[in-house]
Amino acid sequence: MTAFNVFYITCPNCNATLTGKKLRAIAINYSELYSDGKMVCNELISEPQKIIKCPSCANIFWLPEIVDEIDSEIRATPSDEVKEEKIAVYSYKSWYQFGCNTSLIEGKKALIDHHFQLLVMLKPFTVEQELYLRRSLLWACNDLIRFEMVNKLSRLFSGSFSFQAWRRERHDRIIQKILFLKLNPVYKSNISRMIELIKVTKEKESDKAYLAELYREKGNFAKAMEIVNELHRSTHYVYQIHKKITKKSTSVFKVAG
Ligand SMILES: [Zn+2]
Repeated sequence: MTAFNVFYITCPNCNATLTGKKLRAIAINYSELYSDGKMVCNELISEPQKIIKCPSCANIFWLPEIVDEIDSEIRATPSDEVKEEKIAVYSYKSWYQFGCNTSLIEGKKALIDHHFQLLVMLKPFTVEQELYLRRSLLWACNDLIRFEMVNKLSRLFSGSFSFQAWRRERHDRIIQKILFLKLNPVYKSNISRMIELIKVTKEKESDKAYLAELYREKGNFAKAMEIVNELHRSTHYVYQIHKKITKKSTSVFKVAG
């Protein structure tokens, strides 16, 4: 059984057919959850990409709502023309993360730029749409510092890493860290706006924990701690946020996986 359901989308501007992938919950065999809410399952972000840049005509559009109901046969089945191979179909890779190869530093930078542009171009948007875009920007920025500490010397000495590979990776991380620091003013203002949006719309306990995490990533430890202390339930996530606040750490961290 494959790990994905395939669905089809039509560009509202040029009628190009694009294929999409949605994870089957039952087939997920590996997932990682990070403190900024990003979850990666089978190497794909678990949340479907909601904004699409058509690989054929560069038109930008929101993923139609109906695609959320992926099990509906109508959307999950290709049209007769696609079946008969009468028209070209653009693969998921051509539009997923705007075609950016995020395993490379250049790809990560390009993805951040895309999100900045979208925040300007797509105005006005609903609160949910803005929050989606800003969260995507947050994830893209955090991707610059989202890695396991595999440059630990122990791995080098255990022989699982060659010295050249270790040095190259270390160099790449330093470059990414510098880039992340350069983005700091916009990174923080993006988080501030997310906090405003979440405050007006969300009431649940889990949203409050996320709010505390945003304050921590922004460096406002006093406010983050205040929210953590108000929470009624202490989950593994909340416990870890608390620990990071006491260490005055602002970096995104892996919660599970
Ligand atoms: Zn198009």
